[in-house]
Amino acid sequence: MARNYKACWERVVTTMMGVTPDRVPLIFLTSEDVAARVAGLTIREMMSSPEILAEKSIMVNDFLGGDGMALVANPYCGPFEGLAFAKANGRNDVFVWKDYTTPFIREGLLCQSEKEIEALEIPDHNIIEPWPTLFRAIAILQEKTGIGVDQFSPSLTWSSVQMLRGSQAYLDVRQNPDLLMKLCEKIYASQWNYYQAYCRLAGQPNFAFQCSYAFNQHMLSFEDAWKFEGQFIARFAKESGLPLIIHNCGFKPYHIELIERLQKEQVQVLGVNGSHPLDIDWWVEFRKKFPEITIMGGLHVSAEMENGTEKDVENRIKEVIQKLGSDSRLIITPTCCMPWRVPLSNIKAVAEAVTKYGKYPIDPKSWPTS
Ligand SMILES: [Zn+2]
Repeated sequence: MARNYKACWERVVTTMMGVTPDRVPLIFLTSEDVAARVAGLTIREMMSSPEILAEKSIMVNDFLGGDGMALVANPYCGPFEGLAFAKANGRNDVFVWKDYTTPFIREGLLCQSEKEIEALEIPDHNIIEPWPTLFRAIAILQEKTGIGVDQFSPSLTWSSVQMLRGSQAYLDVRQNPDLLMKLCEKIYASQWNYYQAYCRLAGQPNFAFQCSYAFNQHMLSFEDAWKFEGQFIARFAKESGLPLIIHNCGFKPYHIELIERLQKEQVQVLGVNGSHPLDIDWWVEFRKKFPEITIMGGLHVSAEMENGTEKDVENRIKEVIQKLGSDSRLIITPTCCMPWRVPLSNIKAVAEAVTKYGKYPIDPKSWPTS
């Protein structure tokens, strides 16, 4: 382990509290694709034991050079929640493993009929793999690096809806809302069980990094997104008492509407993590509206990161820090997970640019010209 992660995380926490740190923090959303490339192992090899998973996660985080400590088998309630549902229902056949990229469930096969939704078994996250392995690996990260437990990431409810019910769910919104609601309740119960098992095997997190995939304008109306996902997010925040970071990596997110509605429900929103809108000036207006919310973004993995040069990455970070970094509450976060096509040289350029331009006080006049 090459780095002092406790000091790195202190920088992140300081920023979210609105106090100015020594420099703008940087967090990578580490996932299976980049991990396989850096660690040189297949996904299942990395996940073969909590010890190996923790060791490879530290190796990958060291390489990336961010201020967080992320498990390289992403512990959010996405693909691996699909795997847990498949196993709990005796349907391992619907899950497709990949060697060097994120595995996924074949969508819509577990809950094709009303009867299957009624009979759907909720996985016990204390027992059903890969969750115990992932949670134990997080506990090892926490023990070895002093950080790691704060990557608790529910995904209420829409990513599970899509995995279990597939595109039929969009018709259900209009044609069979009661059935869809029944499925959402089961997903909620599963993710509440995930939370309890997380606390037991990994440790108690200080906040929830909540993926809110229903909240995109091209997918659902805001009211439908609230009905089938938002109200469950609010319920979870109230029952757990955890403040939220809202992750939404969609192209037309309802960031403002969702935050306003959650605040109306007395839910504390600490941060927002997204890449869109890509226009930095939109985020300057967002900052004026929500000065107490940390912006975690600045880079889109399919824009400069994937298709640009190292200089493009540097210039984007420079502009983001210039426009959003002066008052703290900015964390550079390439969003979302980095796919295979993102060159490693561009990933390395991120940490270099944050070090070059992110030192407080932010003073563009003193920045190197090249
Ligand atoms: Zn995402």
